Amino acid sequence: MILILLGAPGSGKGTQGRRLSERFGISYMASGDLLRRAIDQHTPLGEQVRQYVERGLYVPDDVIVPAALHEIHRIREETGASGVVLDGFPRTREQAQALDVALEAEGKRVKRVLFLNVPKDVLVNRLAGRWTCRNCGATYNLDQNPPRTPGVCDRCGHALFQRVDDRPETVERRLNVYLESTVPLVAYYRQKRRLVEIDGNRPMNEVTEALVSGTGCHELSGQRR
Ligand code: AMP
Repeated sequence: MILILLGAPGSGKGTQGRRLSERFGISYMASGDLLRRAIDQHTPLGEQVRQYVERGLYVPDDVIVPAALHEIHRIREETGASGVVLDGFPRTREQAQALDVALEAEGKRVKRVLFLNVPKDVLVNRLAGRWTCRNCGATYNLDQNPPRTPGVCDRCGHALFQRVDDRPETVERRLNVYLESTVPLVAYYRQKRRLVEIDGNRPMNEVTEALVSGTGCHELSGQRR
């Protein structure tokens, strides 16, 4: 089962994506995590994308598409799960087309595209107070969802940091870039009748339940897909 989570930065994609992968026993791939890891490790991909990510601009399609497809393949090999939740990829219509072509070659297709809708003013507030764990990617909000010990991840005990691109001067640009590129992407999946729109401006658990039912699938416990 291949699920795509669409939503603005701060819409809760990361948290919800991990929850969906746990509920359905499938893998999870976040393109932002992939790029941040590459940057931290100074790999050739990291050096290629650093300028874009730090400034809140999209990495060009000819760089992100092969990197994301390779990562999806790698994760599926590693975990043995054929299903995956994609968070942050595809982000443009061209990326969506490239993904469809790659999946078709394997006789697969995207099952559902879950579009998390959150008003822009809520996103700005969420991003301004967001702290992220460099180790496991968990996110916290200093107002809504603070860690038990300040500056320390509840899940894995590693230190939290504020992403360079979550700083106020970059947040506005990221949201604008997102809004511009998402309209055609949403239209693409709507036309293919795979889009399910979810109100993401609700308590986290309610959003999770709405997403689970939006997949149109029953949960699997412990089973791999
Ligand atoms: P995210 O963690 O999903 O907010 O992604 C962080 C940054 O990584 C984005 O602001 C972009 O610079 C870059 N990025 C992640 N995924 C993509 C993608 N599919 N296409 C282009 N750039 C991306």
